[in-house]
Amino acid sequence: MAEKKYQYIYGPVSSWRLGVSLGIDPISQKDKICTFDCPYCQLGKTEKFSAERKIFVPTKAILEEIKSVPPSGIDYITFSGSGEPTLAKNLGDLIRGIQKFRNEKIAVITNSSLIGRTDVQEDLMLADLILAKLDACSHDVFRAISQPMQGIRFNQLVKDIKEFRLKFKQRFALQIMFAPVNQKYTQEIAQLAREINPHEIQINTPLRPCGVRPLSEDEIRDIVNCFRKICGDRMMIANVYEASRKETLPLDSEDTIRRRGDQQ
Ligand code: SF4
Repeated sequence: MAEKKYQYIYGPVSSWRLGVSLGIDPISQKDKICTFDCPYCQLGKTEKFSAERKIFVPTKAILEEIKSVPPSGIDYITFSGSGEPTLAKNLGDLIRGIQKFRNEKIAVITNSSLIGRTDVQEDLMLADLILAKLDACSHDVFRAISQPMQGIRFNQLVKDIKEFRLKFKQRFALQIMFAPVNQKYTQEIAQLAREINPHEIQINTPLRPCGVRPLSEDEIRDIVNCFRKICGDRMMIANVYEASRKETLPLDSEDTIRRRGDQQ
């Protein structure tokens, strides 16, 4: 029925981080295209690594689809989907285009790998909320949990996040996925989070089937307590087990599940 009506947008999904979120997939290719190969990724293995920005879907085609979605009940229009959304060279044009005819806030979920680039920063500055991934505290842990493509160095990535955080005037959240492989580095990751000083820290664990064991509620509670100690009581810390979700009815359920690589 509605199966092929929407090619580039999905949801709305009930996101523990964003309320009701209408997803935009500016990559929308058959295979995921990303700079990372996170073992917990809902999209499977990364077969196509790329750090090259290009236009995957014409701006007009995506804007036309969004125009046809009724605005009711949507909290955020969120760039995510089948790969790293900052790889889309038309990200800025898309955000500007959406802002002309929609009132919802705009979020971008990024793995932070391109956040140091001037052109990417210019695009991200247009958004209301950036959710930036940081799952590690050293290059070795980064290699284990994010499996980045060659050339991406952890120290540079952290430096880039810190610089962007200082420049970005809207809401900035750090999203951290915890699994057995980075659990023992909780203190070091929390220390880095403190230095970055986001508006919010979102602690996640892969609850949907993906071959990586999710941490239990107790384990996540210990992690949150550690973050609280290191980042202070005033830091807003959300975690996937305690977040509430709103009821939603996706435009196309199967397609929506397929595209949610970052376990929103
Ligand atoms: S979880 Fe996100 S960053 Fe990691 S491989 Fe999947 S799309 Fe890329």
